[in-house]
Amino acid sequence: MATVDHLLTIEAAQRAVSEHVSPGRAVSVPLGEAIGRVLAKPIVCDVDYPPFDKAMMDGYAVRAADVAETPAVLRIVGQVAAGHEAAKRVGAGEAIQINTGAPLPPGADAVVPVENTECVQDGSAVSVSVAVPAGKHIDPAAKYVLAGSTVLSPGVRMGPAQIASAAAAGAAEISIYARPSVAILVTGDELVDVDAQPRGAQIRNSNGPMLRSLVTQAGGEVVDLGVVCDDKSALTDRIREGLASDVLCISGGISMGAFDFVPEVLASCGVRIVFRKLAIKPGKPVLFGIGERGTRVFGLPGNPSSGFVCFRLLVRPALATLSGRDERRPVEIAARLIGDCPATKDRQGYSPARIAIDGDGSVTVEHLSWHGSGDPFGLSCANGLIVRPPGLPKAVGGDTVSVIPLEWF
Ligand code: AMP
Ligand code: MG
Repeated sequence: MATVDHLLTIEAAQRAVSEHVSPGRAVSVPLGEAIGRVLAKPIVCDVDYPPFDKAMMDGYAVRAADVAETPAVLRIVGQVAAGHEAAKRVGAGEAIQINTGAPLPPGADAVVPVENTECVQDGSAVSVSVAVPAGKHIDPAAKYVLAGSTVLSPGVRMGPAQIASAAAAGAAEISIYARPSVAILVTGDELVDVDAQPRGAQIRNSNGPMLRSLVTQAGGEVVDLGVVCDDKSALTDRIREGLASDVLCISGGISMGAFDFVPEVLASCGVRIVFRKLAIKPGKPVLFGIGERGTRVFGLPGNPSSGFVCFRLLVRPALATLSGRDERRPVEIAARLIGDCPATKDRQGYSPARIAIDGDGSVTVEHLSWHGSGDPFGLSCANGLIVRPPGLPKAVGGDTVSVIPLEWF
């Protein structure tokens, strides 16, 4: 990296950010609160699973040798339901009625499904019409897991299936990575709240709500520092507050305008600026720095679409890593273009797009018209961003283009 003012590629910027992030501290939570979080310590099963030889069908527990020739008539000597243990053993010529999930009675070595039986002799005996080999319709103890084995390893994201595994393993509390704290500071003299009527030169602060939801969606814990005017002393106070968090996201005030004080104030607060310009469109002015206590500081452009794109490309991967997820950069997929997509000039282009799956299961994408980086409405119909390297001519229908899905990953 030549100087911090050098126009950096997005790949170099993502690498620079990733050098300053690693999974955060581990915390213990009840299993019920673990959905979506990333495991920090292994989960070890405390029992054999299944803990006993378990019937996998409703039917009769038998000795396989007794039903090798069919039809075979066996005396019913008992019944065992799930959650109960058989009071008797199965002797030669005998059967015990059994339900799915019940432990196999001693003496038996197979289960005959009820569909292959018929009760005879006033219900005191069963006639078996189909032979079963020993072990049939039984899951023996410890078939799936031996007590003491690891069932989930660190780095696994806890979805419903992983939560079921942890529950079966007896993990009532689990160790996960803490949510990174993310301070959000919005700057600009022109801003009024959502519930206010803008007058004269004012506009509504749409970046505040956008950033809060982006942070929440990315697994961060929002620390809302509100809105601050373009005033050095007010900015200094609020930035010092923000540097107490794991991450500080600042909206606006980072480009070359006379009132863009953020880079200067950050430097005066001891933040080392790593880069402040990227070769992407939208989003050329975007700043990344490191505070004295390691806070990762992102200065995002005030223009709403630029801020959104920069967050997705840089901040979200950083929050993923801090939360233990392995997402160093957004997923890009190939899609068949429907309609045209504009040429790119000297910077890599990101533009709003609609991804769909067509009738034969292939992925298509349509470029959406928008008014550029200042348009807070331009991305609201998009579920993807078309990515086009610099210097490319217009793409046309049928071309394959790269797209970052916004919804599924
Ligand atoms: P800045 O990056 O501070 O130069 O801001 C660039 C432009 O983005 C401003 O002129 C505003 O029109 C717009 N903008 C800045 N902050 C916000 C915000 N919080 N919400 C919506 N638009 C904003
Ligand atoms: Mg501003």
